[in-house]
Amino acid sequence: MTDGRLEHRPASDTEVVEMAAAAKRSRAKKKRASPRRSRARRRPFVIDFHAHVVAPEVVAFSKGHVVDTGVPDSAGVSESLKEDWKKWRQTVDLKMGDPKVRLQDMDKMGVDVQVLTPSLVHQYTYWADPETSLGMEQRANNRIAEMVAVAPDRFVGLGGVPLQHPDLAIGEMRRCLGELKLRGIEVSSHAESMELGDPKLRAFWAEAEKLGAAIYLHPAGVVQPRYGKFQLWNSVGQPLEEALAMCSLFYEGVLDAFPKLKICVAHGGGYLPFYAGRVDRNYFGKGFTRVNMTKSPSEYMRRHFWYDSCVYNADMLEFLVKKVGASRIVLGSDYPVGEPDPIGFVRRVRGLSAADKEDILGRTAAKLLGLSI
Ligand SMILES: [Zn+2]
Repeated sequence: MTDGRLEHRPASDTEVVEMAAAAKRSRAKKKRASPRRSRARRRPFVIDFHAHVVAPEVVAFSKGHVVDTGVPDSAGVSESLKEDWKKWRQTVDLKMGDPKVRLQDMDKMGVDVQVLTPSLVHQYTYWADPETSLGMEQRANNRIAEMVAVAPDRFVGLGGVPLQHPDLAIGEMRRCLGELKLRGIEVSSHAESMELGDPKLRAFWAEAEKLGAAIYLHPAGVVQPRYGKFQLWNSVGQPLEEALAMCSLFYEGVLDAFPKLKICVAHGGGYLPFYAGRVDRNYFGKGFTRVNMTKSPSEYMRRHFWYDSCVYNADMLEFLVKKVGASRIVLGSDYPVGEPDPIGFVRRVRGLSAADKEDILGRTAAKLLGLSI
């Protein structure tokens, strides 16, 4: 696949495996520390927490059950706009699949390590029967592990699970953190009819806490006609889903039951931190809404969640820092579709100390992921 700007084609599954094997041989031969981690390095270590990959067979399996990212055919969309979108999609597909292109982009962006997660808006299996869903998640997770093996000093991975079936989800989470050596799990904002605070998911959260898994909360996107036009599922739906998912976790008492959970919410936590006064007002004014929780929503936001920096307006990130503290925020670009200069974006935020910036750029993410940098 070519798009005129990039000469590479996506690496096939076999090539990714071969690249991983070659990388392993090369490491065994050299047996040296990565220069990226040398003490001589002066600049902050940068970890991009929000970077997606796809497994083509899982994308094909998900067709018809994910949001529409195809070429729009609505009235008024010209052929040239359709062509622009097609080229954009081809570039995105290429970057999601090819570790070589990704590494080049990371070098250009100044990113030391990317946290690879499945792109749930392209590959989503919670709708399927549990066994099939598990099989697909396993394929996707194996692919992430293979990509990590291509450059283990540049990539870490979070896996996916069939969250609609908590027992199978727990098993796959254990495999991800054990056999595959991934650092955690990505979940969508709900598991079909189950909200994240559903009692049936308690065992999953208990195990995630026990394993010390980093949890990345990233919605798969709302598949409803109301959100279909103008890509509203993306612009409006994603932050709304994040707000609902966070509410479910604290209103249902999950965060009180498992206070050591490490949950990082995509896109700066969506709308919730930016309109917290309203949910706090309900907490204080309506006693019947707070029967499963011990703190105000704002307090959960400050003490129980982490957030990525992918909010696109520097003044919004400034507000998020004021609301939850710099130590709760990690850099996230939403590679390859989001913020092209995530480091510059963080640096533009006013009022951050050098230490705050280092925390956001990499130190806090390293702690969440259990990495020494
Ligand atoms: Zn994303």
